[in-house]
Formats: sequence, structure tokens, C-alpha cells
Amino acid sequence: MPARILEGRTIAAAVRADLVPLARAYREATGRPATLAILHSGGDPASDVYTKALLRSADTVGVAVRLVALPADVDDAGLRAAITALNDDAYVQGILVELPLPKHLSPRAVAETIDPSKDVDGISMRNIGNLFLRQPSLVPSTCAAVVELLERERVPLDGARVVVVGASNVVGKPLAFMLLHRDATVTVCHIFTHDLTYWTRQADVLIVAVGKPGLITGAMVKPGATVVDVGINPQPDGRLVGDVDFASVAEVAGAVTPVPGGVGQLTNLMLLQQTLLAARSEGGI
Ligand code: NAD
Repeated sequence: MPARILEGRTIAAAVRADLVPLARAYREATGRPATLAILHSGGDPASDVYTKALLRSADTVGVAVRLVALPADVDDAGLRAAITALNDDAYVQGILVELPLPKHLSPRAVAETIDPSKDVDGISMRNIGNLFLRQPSLVPSTCAAVVELLERERVPLDGARVVVVGASNVVGKPLAFMLLHRDATVTVCHIFTHDLTYWTRQADVLIVAVGKPGLITGAMVKPGATVVDVGINPQPDGRLVGDVDFASVAEVAGAVTPVPGGVGQLTNLMLLQQTLLAARSEGGI
């Protein structure tokens, strides 16, 4: 039987409906909207598309967005100064530094400078440490999107065998800890994993965040498994494809997310959700 398609758009509508009253409650309590500041370096077309989509989502939820352009010749000291100004701004509840940064800037400067209580994409050392220790923390929005999707679709996680393919600091590793904390048995695979198929075929829930189109085929999936494709790979003809060979996997899996239209639909809503969480706790996370 072909897999159930996990439509990000449907789940996003439900998430949005939950966020709108939270945003309104903050506005009514404070007389101003919760505000997400985006430090924007420009020049990366994928980031520009993402920022435009985020602006539209924020508008529908009722969160204000302040775009702060970094000068093209900004250095690490200038980047730190721009972040510090937002850390100190009482009208800003969330800060997102658009990635990738221009090559001459250090992501470490961001992780070390951003106020953890405003770090709505969970990249600061305190948030990463808190996540590791299972303490309240702001988490990377992509990881939050995957977990939100699985939970809203009632995919059982406790005791489930979950395999995460990809071990980056922004997706694979934090996601593995979030799933471990939901009592899954988690395996993380990466570029040096021998016999990837052996591992992926164990998975009740297979999550793929690599950046290689068609890496996962139907033959690598356990029949009935839930497959979540985090990959976003722009093609020369302008199409976006994931890391999963959708046609063959949909023949075997129990459920699968499409690309586009899957996890990506939820990511920027998760940033807004975390902005509202940061706003509600004002420094408490
Ligand atoms: P990354 O390049 O930082 O990490 C890739 C990971 O994949 C590494 O751990 C590497 O070891 C592993 N890998 C590479 N080749 C492999 C192979 N053949 N077999 C097994 N593992 C392999 O990438 P990232 O930033 O984590 O992003 C991964 C993908 O997710 C990209 O396509 C990116 O565009 C996408 N992404 C999507 C969202 C979203 O909102 N949906 C957000 C962030 C990233």
C-alpha cells in the first residue's frame, strides 16, 4: 500500500492556529507585538527566499519582524556589536542570524555573543548545553519542526527505533538529543557510516538531513516506517528536491514527508513559536 503523505501545509495550519492567540495575548499584555530581529547579511538567494517566507508567516501569526542589514564589509567585531545591540534592546524578544554567514565571518562569534534567552534558533552554547542536559532550552527550528510534525501526526517515539542520517550541529545532532529525550532509541549515521542501508532498514522512524538528492531509496527503508525528509536541494531547473527518492520510498514506507511541502512548511513557524516562548519568559530560558 502506498505511504501516507505527511502534508506540512495541513500541520502548519494547525500550528499557526495555536500561535495566533499566544501572539495576541502577548500584544494585549504588553501593548506591543513580540518582535523577532533578523540579522541579514544579504547576497545568498536561498536565505533571501527563506526570509521572505518568514516575513509572510510572521504576519499571519502576529509577530513583528525587524530586518537588520549587516554591511557587506562587516567583520566579526561588527557582527558581535550588532548582536549585542539587539541583546540589549527590550523591544526585541528573539534574534535570528541568517545563515550561511559570508565566509569571512565566524559562526562562533554568533554562538558566543547572542543572548541565550533570545536565541530562537538554539545555536548558543547555553541552549545547546541545556538541550544536552534535558533542561528547558530554545532549540534549532528545523529540529523543532521535525518533532512537531511527528508529535502532531502521533508517530510513536517512546521505545521506537529512530535513525537520524546526518550529524550536523544544526540538524542531526540536536535532533538526536530531542528524540532521545522523547525516549526513542536513537542511532545517528553520517558520511563515515559503513553500510548505511543496514542502519536505515532498522528504523521505525527514519529522518534524513544530509543534502544529497535521492540518497535514500525504497530498498533502504523498513516496510511501514515513517520517513521524514529534511533535505532541501535546489536543482538546476529551479525545482527543490529532498534527500529521499520519494517515488520508491512511498511504495515501502507507512508515511513519508514530501519536499517541498513537508518539514520546510513548519520551520519558520517554529522560529515564531520560539520567539513567543522567549517573549513569554522574557529572559527566563
Ligand atoms: P551539513 O552539510 O552541515 O551536514 C550534512 C551531514 O550529512 C553530515 O553530518 C555528513 O556526515 C552527513 N552525510 C553527508 N553525506 C552522507 C552520506 N552519503 N551518507 C550519510 N551521511 C552523509 O548539512 P545540514 O546543514 O545539516 O543540512 C542537511 C540538509 O538539510 C540540507 O539539504 C539542508 O538544505 C537541509 N536543511 C533543511 C532545513 C529545513 O528547514 N527543512 C533546515 C536546515 C537544513
